[in-house]
Amino acid sequence: MPFANVHIIEHPVIQTKLTELRDYTADHRKFRTLLDEIAGLMVYEVTRDWPTMPKPIQTPLEKTIGHVLARPVTLVPILRAGLGMADGVLKLLPDARLGHLGVYRNETTLEPVAYYQKLPPDVADTEVLLIDPMLATGGSGTAAISFLKKAGVKHMRFVCLVAAPEGIQMLHAHHPEVPIYCAAVDRQLNEKAYILPGLGDAGDRLFGT
Ligand code: URA
Repeated sequence: MPFANVHIIEHPVIQTKLTELRDYTADHRKFRTLLDEIAGLMVYEVTRDWPTMPKPIQTPLEKTIGHVLARPVTLVPILRAGLGMADGVLKLLPDARLGHLGVYRNETTLEPVAYYQKLPPDVADTEVLLIDPMLATGGSGTAAISFLKKAGVKHMRFVCLVAAPEGIQMLHAHHPEVPIYCAAVDRQLNEKAYILPGLGDAGDRLFGT
């Protein structure tokens, strides 16, 4: 059954790269490269309906009206695995500012623990992309969205690579209006809250830890 307000980007190039990324033989160098590439490719779909505004310009031949993004962009990776998607997105949106949210999962309680927050001062008026490769229990994502809402953010999208049904349900139980963009919705979580089939621990695979 499809989830409301969840966009699965099924582009064949993204799916091919995701398959390579899931493969346990991909080392941290390959994993990093693939994550960066997929994040960049996802930007096209994630931003497809962002508002633009007209901008008068002068070409070498005449004046014309172009279009630019209506709002500045803030990219907010959830530390630490979200960092692996930041450069890929920034290649497409080089004017974006970068906030950081440090949230880790207590491995005993599986509850999110916030340990670092830094956002641009005008974040409230920007278009925010909250990025984290894995939407597992949804605990970190839900906490991060609550924090961004408290900071006044009105326009945000959650961008991940792989989502678990449990994570989607949790996130949308608290924040149904925040769209989720992902490349795959996997089957389920295991007893340690890893996504199945998933790709393992994204942070460890990305950083080689
Ligand atoms: N975080 C990960 O990195 N992988 C999972 O499967 C779940 C959470």
